[in-house]
This record gives sequence, structure tokens and C-alpha cells, in this order.
Amino acid sequence: MPAHYDLIIRNATIIDGRRTPRFAGDVGVSGERIAAIGRLDADRAEREIDASGKIVAPGFIDSHTHDDRYLRSHPAMTPKVSQGVTTVIAGNCGISLAPLVATNPPAPLDLIDDSTAYRFATFAEFMADLADNPAATNAACMVGHTTLRVAAMDRIDRVATASEAARMAEMTEEAMRAGAIGFSTGTYYPPAAHASTEEIITAARPLRAHGGRYVTHMRNEDDNIVAAMDEAFRIGREVGVPVIISHHKVVGVRNYGRSEETLKLLTEARRSQDVCVDCYPYIASSTMLRADRIPLSDRIIITWSKPHPEFTGVDLPEVARRMGVSQEEAVARLLPAGAIYFSMNEADVQRILKFEDTMVGSDGIPHDIKPHPRLWGTFPRVLGHYSRDIGLFPLETAVYKMTGLTAAKFGLRDRGVLEVGAFADLTVFDAATVNDGATFEKPTQPALGIDSVIVNGQPVWLAGQATQARPGRLLRNRG
Ligand SMILES: [Zn+2]
Repeated sequence: MPAHYDLIIRNATIIDGRRTPRFAGDVGVSGERIAAIGRLDADRAEREIDASGKIVAPGFIDSHTHDDRYLRSHPAMTPKVSQGVTTVIAGNCGISLAPLVATNPPAPLDLIDDSTAYRFATFAEFMADLADNPAATNAACMVGHTTLRVAAMDRIDRVATASEAARMAEMTEEAMRAGAIGFSTGTYYPPAAHASTEEIITAARPLRAHGGRYVTHMRNEDDNIVAAMDEAFRIGREVGVPVIISHHKVVGVRNYGRSEETLKLLTEARRSQDVCVDCYPYIASSTMLRADRIPLSDRIIITWSKPHPEFTGVDLPEVARRMGVSQEEAVARLLPAGAIYFSMNEADVQRILKFEDTMVGSDGIPHDIKPHPRLWGTFPRVLGHYSRDIGLFPLETAVYKMTGLTAAKFGLRDRGVLEVGAFADLTVFDAATVNDGATFEKPTQPALGIDSVIVNGQPVWLAGQATQARPGRLLRNRG
């Protein structure tokens, strides 16, 4: 008896997300799940995709995003879907949209705000809003420590009192009950820089009972990175949860090469606790504009400026020249603003990407006017540039770093692997042509070689074009 499926992807080369060597086969999908893998010659389906000469892999999971508001404002999620991403992890770097009711919150909360977006008094309300308004991709969310500080404290230029930290812990508990998958910090940024390690441990305490994880944009990624890593490991041990170090990098020319040291520390820590990192495949970073980054950077490009939008895309020395002031003074006049910083070493980026427990994460900033190209290019750049062209690791490893590893580290059940019974989140791509199209000059160009993208059994990208489908689910902790 021939079987009948909703979808068959035929003649594919399958990479399953577990680093298994690729194999030939067809994939049958019924409803939202994978129903069969193998030779399905006799079987039929409502829709068939011919993947001759192409790879079919689990849909990519973007382990590091700031898509909290973008999921609602741009539910097509084109920068992500066009790269083959089927799930995004939001709420990174201490920044989450909930629980906080505020207008014009302090930077970096404005990274995802349009000044009216912080309108959820509880995490449950935010989750309900996302669940009721599906996007093209799935989403899993974390609660941000900086958001909690702004919600719980009258002033954020000091450490929290015991009662304020206890209030943050109550909000973490509420977020975890509502389905948050973790708790993030951004102690690099001014609103959280005054937090003590003890404050963070108190606020993160509820994570353990709910199987959450501690995810951190550390206090320091340059000269004092080792102390910052030790703090992250300590918080993980004391709270009793896994640690994920965000966008791992070593910044500043005098620190070039120090990834040898940081990866050794990670390897040592891994023997006694669960630690891993995410990483984007570029030597430039992007975040709010700060004058203290000038000496650490080879080049700085402005990505947005509230008072001076005309300088979007312009290099900082050129802004200073046109203003007739120093670079430091130009920064002061541009704020609030964002920037791209060229401040990393290619050998470090490659060493970190190659590390056993490094997941791929874009850290894309979707509301920037002229964003860092990582927003549109991260995943195909790892597959094309780093795996195929440079040979940094096999394609199976590249896929694992954006699927199976990520699903395991974030506890996303039945995602990130291509197997019967798993959710049918799938990406079909051409291994010979896949690459990033986005550049620093033209950062919003779609990727090359991404053919079709399926989310929960429904195509959201077919033959290189977006569909109108919005099959994304909100993935809750234990959900
Ligand atoms: Zn960050």
C-alpha cells in the first residue's frame, strides 16, 4: 500500500543535525511532523519538492536574537527565513520586552523598542500575545535581567537592595512559569553594570526548578574577560543551571589571540558544569554607540542615530570630520545611537566557531536602519564561507552547530534533528552555492542557495521566495 503524505521532499541528501554523515533519501511529512525518511518512490503527497542535488537539514535555530518585537512587527521574519532559520531564541543580553511597562526605557532596552513596545506587566501577557499572533518562524523567549532591574528599581545606577533582588526573583519565577526558557544578563551595559554577582544569583534562583538556563553578555569581553567568565561560571554553579556565554569573542587588538586562553577555560569548566557559547561569523560586532570602544576598534560605522539619522552608514572619523569635532564629541552628539565595531581577529573568530560546544547565533539587530550584515547573513556564511570555502569544519558539523547542538542546549524538544516523529522544521539548500549575500555596504541582501524552508510542516520559503504562511509556534519551557 503506498502511503500518502502532506509533503514529500524527494531525492535529497540528508544531513540530520547530529553530525551523522550525509545520506541519500526522501522525507515524508504528515501534518506538523516528519512521518518517514528513506526511499518513498511508491508514495504520494499533496505537495512534492524535488531536492535533487540539494541538502535537506533540520531548520536552523538562531541561538542568539533580539527578535522579541520583530516577531510581531514583521511576522514574515524575512531576514531569518531567507537564511533557513525556523526557530529564533529571543530575550538575549538582558533585554526582554516583558515584564515591563515603560515608555522610552534606557539604552540598550531601546534596541528592540519603538517607545511603546514595553507594555506587558507580566511575562505571561507577552507570551500570550506572541502565541496569539504567530510568525513564520517558531520562537522561544528568555527573560532579561536588565528589564527586571528597570521594572524593580527606582534607580539603576546602583546595586539592587535585598528586597529589589527578591522582587526580580519573583518576576523570574513568573516568567519561567509562563514558559520562558531561560534568564539573560547584559552586565556590559550601563543599566546592569552596577549589579553584583549576588544580585544576579538571587534574581536567577528560580531557574533551576524550571529547568532554565543562564545566558550572559558578560561584563567584559576585552582585557578582563577571564574574570567575567569566572563570574558566569560561578553564577551557573550557585544557581545550579547550564551557562551559555553569548556571542563569545575577544575584543581589542591587544587581546587578539586570547581565544586560546578563553577556550581552554571553557574546556576546563565543562568538566564540572554545563557551559557552552554562541558565536556569529564576523570580525565586527554591533551594539549601542559608546566612546570607550574607540580605542578598541579598527573601524566604527554608525548604524543609527536618533538626533543625526543622516550619518547612518557613515564611519565615525568621517562623522567627526564633518561635525568639526573629536570622535568622542561626535559620539556624544550622535547618542542615542548604534554602531558596528571592527575589533576582532579572524583567527579568534575561526577558533571560537570551531570549538566543540559553539552554537551559531546571529545576534542580528532587526530594527537598525543599516544593520550589521549578520542579521541576514550569519547561517549561510557559516555553511558557505567557513565550511565549504575555508574548510573550517565539515558541512555536517556546520549544520549541527545550528540545529542539534542548539536544540539540546536550549531544551527544545523534537527540534533540531531530522528524524521520524520530530517536528517538520526543514531547510533545503544547495551546498555548492549557499553563501551570505549581505555585506557591510549592503546589509539587507538575502542569502544565496537557500531553496525551501518548512516550519511545522508548512513551507514559509519556496524556490527562493517567501510564502504567506505563518506556522510558527511559541516554544515554551517544558512545552
Ligand atoms: Zn549582547
